[in-house]
Amino acid sequence: MSHKTYLNLIGGEHYPARSGKTFLNLNPADHSDVVGEFPASGSQDVDAAVAAAKKAFATWRLVPAPKRAEILYRTGQLLQERKEQYARDMTREMGKVLAETRGDVQEAIDEAFYVAGEGRRLFGKTTPSELQNKFAMSIRMPLGVVGMITPWNFPMAIPSWKLFPALVSGNTCVIKPAEDTPLSTFNLVQTMIDAGLPPGVVNIITGFGPDAGAPLVEHRDVRAISFTGSSEVGSIVAQRAAANFKPISLEMGGKNAQIVLDDANLDLALDGALWGAFGTTGQRCTATSRILLQKGIAKEFTERLVERAKKLRVGNGLDAAVEVGPQVNEQQIETSKKYVAIALAEGAELLTGGVPLSEGTHLNGTFFAPTVFGGVTPQMRIACEEVFGPVVSLIEFDTFEQAIQIANSIDYGLSTALYTKDVNRAFAAIRDLEAGITYINAPTIGAEVHLPFGGVKQTGNGHREGSEAIDFYTTWKAVYIDYSDKLQRAQIDNAE
Ligand code: ADP
Repeated sequence: MSHKTYLNLIGGEHYPARSGKTFLNLNPADHSDVVGEFPASGSQDVDAAVAAAKKAFATWRLVPAPKRAEILYRTGQLLQERKEQYARDMTREMGKVLAETRGDVQEAIDEAFYVAGEGRRLFGKTTPSELQNKFAMSIRMPLGVVGMITPWNFPMAIPSWKLFPALVSGNTCVIKPAEDTPLSTFNLVQTMIDAGLPPGVVNIITGFGPDAGAPLVEHRDVRAISFTGSSEVGSIVAQRAAANFKPISLEMGGKNAQIVLDDANLDLALDGALWGAFGTTGQRCTATSRILLQKGIAKEFTERLVERAKKLRVGNGLDAAVEVGPQVNEQQIETSKKYVAIALAEGAELLTGGVPLSEGTHLNGTFFAPTVFGGVTPQMRIACEEVFGPVVSLIEFDTFEQAIQIANSIDYGLSTALYTKDVNRAFAAIRDLEAGITYINAPTIGAEVHLPFGGVKQTGNGHREGSEAIDFYTTWKAVYIDYSDKLQRAQIDNAE
């Protein structure tokens, strides 16, 4: 079957990689289905893209923010029209089921409308000067060219979280999407161009991390980097960016706990656990990978969870009857297998799953059975390290205080959930859980675009996307306007 070839987008024109190298984007549910062929870019391609973005910055920064925002608003409208097609493209390139890829496009739509409103805010501050006849204010300024490196699990939503706030703030962008999911970035950026985005304001370079991502991080004309991916790569990226003091926003791993207390609505907690653990095949940074069960309900919850996990239909996400899609690639399958072996060696009890699925309709894809481990203790590696697959660990506890302590006993701090009817415990958990996001009676996944998104500890480096993203994509300028017509010296002339 012939497939489509895509080229890098640089300054509004399309170019192959200078090296001529390409790579194939395969459907993880069926490797005989080639989604497209993309440039395997290197540093020369990055240089060209950064130069185009730098050139475009000279004019884009002068476009009034409400006008920049109108392009985002139109992008949101066009995405609504294209939602179904883009969701199908995304399921083909990434695997998650259609309901979820529709949600992914919807998140980009929500972000477009939310950020478009920001075009008429971008508020600065005014404050009284300590001197007479002097006016003082602070205003937000764009940074310049911003580099973005994105992962494959939210192929349109995550690029939109980065591009839209950067653009409304007046920056221009070079984005390096994950090698498994470049098509969704092309779909997003094409929509922006159709909505009126001028050439060079967003540039796309496709390829692999060390070849195409690293030169972007190191480029002297790139003023900031926004990265979402693994903590391992995030650490490399941060160290490289530190060499020239580049601001960097890191959004990385999680080992998210759902706590279920004895008084919880068990049906609700079960629904939440299944969705949190196996939605997106467990490949979300907010996925539920630890379920902490209070002793009174642990046995019943475990039995019911395992029974339902066994019944989940795993298959091609384009099939409406399928509930869990494939893992994105062979490497992720290997990681799931590795952690199953580790868990077994540590003495955890495999309650269901634990193996790749490779027969019948699963023959040509990278599928893994929904996997539940019982008898897990908080110190086991399976309870501490991110798997990024459909693998969940059950940990039992006696008291609420123990649950909080176990939930916090990891290096990550992204999302947490508590199921209880006790309002006092709910508020105590909100206060005590070390995480950027806490849900009460809802699963660990389900962030909305207009709240802060991000985590503490090794999940991030303190920045937030969502409602607070503008803080990263702008820098402050303090402005003093003296209308006294004489020299007034701060700290000196008003000192008596
Ligand atoms: P994930 O497992 O979610 O894909 P990764 O951290 O492996 O997370 O990748 C996230 C993004 O980082 C991808 O776009 C990938 O190509 C890119 N990347 C990987 N290695 C590097 C690197 N050394 N420098 C810059 N970017 C990289």
